Amino acid sequence: MQDDGKINYRINDQDLEELESYFLGLGEKRFRAKQTFRRIHKHLAASLDEFTELPLALREQLNQQGSFPQLTIQDSSVSSNGTEKYIFESPEEVPGRDGIRRRVFEAVWIVSDGDDIRTRKTLCISSQAGCTLNCTFCATGTLPFIGNLRTYEILEQIYAIMRLRGERITNIVFMGMGEPFHNYDNVIRAARILNHPDGLHLAARHITISTAGVVPSIHRFIDEKQPFNLAISLNHPDPERRKELMDVTLKHSLEELLEAARRYTLDLKRRITFEYIMIPGQNMGDEDLQKLIRIGRRLRCKINLIPLNTTLQGWRPPNASEMSRFQESLRSQGILAFNRGSPGKDVDGACGMLALRWNEGNKTPSHAAAAIQDNLESSHTSL
Ligand code: SAH
Repeated sequence: MQDDGKINYRINDQDLEELESYFLGLGEKRFRAKQTFRRIHKHLAASLDEFTELPLALREQLNQQGSFPQLTIQDSSVSSNGTEKYIFESPEEVPGRDGIRRRVFEAVWIVSDGDDIRTRKTLCISSQAGCTLNCTFCATGTLPFIGNLRTYEILEQIYAIMRLRGERITNIVFMGMGEPFHNYDNVIRAARILNHPDGLHLAARHITISTAGVVPSIHRFIDEKQPFNLAISLNHPDPERRKELMDVTLKHSLEELLEAARRYTLDLKRRITFEYIMIPGQNMGDEDLQKLIRIGRRLRCKINLIPLNTTLQGWRPPNASEMSRFQESLRSQGILAFNRGSPGKDVDGACGMLALRWNEGNKTPSHAAAAIQDNLESSHTSL
């Protein structure tokens, strides 16, 4: 449980069962919890004044004993293709060496027409402010880590943007700042609330969680039979080279990661998604390709190819012919590989990680574009 005593009980940080024990503890009826839950997670209230179904005395009691914290939108910027980035600041005070700090994090709104009847409105959200991993290509790793987001800080990114835009979101991807599996409980609690019939009731297959490879949490996700999509950022097919690219590999080896991925496909009977950033000179050579093909043949998977979006390390993004050549080589071996950054898609990927590159590129992060395409496919196959 996350509350630090009654005064700091955050009513938007709790699932329905937790709210029920809270209301019962206040001597209230159980149904008050559901009313409150629906006000917050379905009707997206921003202040206690909107909880009109609760008696005034109870609202006052909530005001005194609990809190209903909200994020501040510090800034937003729109790109020419309609993608919009929002920067949030949390009201939580984090004690640091130089005084109080606040968590700042980002979400990106992406609209894609799709080939479907319904327009896809995807939000790419953060799970941490900063990240403790150091992936050499990723800009978030260069920022200071200010902590895991609480459940409400995850959810309020979505709710605040929906309130502001007056639009419903159809898909959520945990591909913003941070490693979702380093904040497993809050991420899963948030995903379950999003999926809840008394909340936004988003389909579980419209919620994608992406991990750099925190193997024990992948096993936990499988054990718990979580219904959400899982994506693994593979990025290099060689055990040693992957260590150089992604330091998470020092702790959890590529072999263990692939074993967990295989277990996912067998136990949950779902195809695993691998994300693979294409970095010329690093992971696109013939040997890399052969190793990637071996991985792709070993288990039921789909590979989303994403062009590098940063110039960290002096690396450059692949050009169009390098990308299509790589993709075709995989496809010719029977591997399901999608080129998520290729032109002609609804949202063209270009910018790198949220934190640094936005102003420069001002385009849609391509990893989020990849997830949108995935959701398109999964809804087609389910038709
Ligand atoms: N930590 C999680 C989620 C955040 S990163 C994870 O690693 O999956 C989300 C996706 O963006 C990952 O697939 C990651 O590999 C990709 N990514 C990170 N930096 C990138 C960059 N510079 N260019 C392209 N994709 C990038």
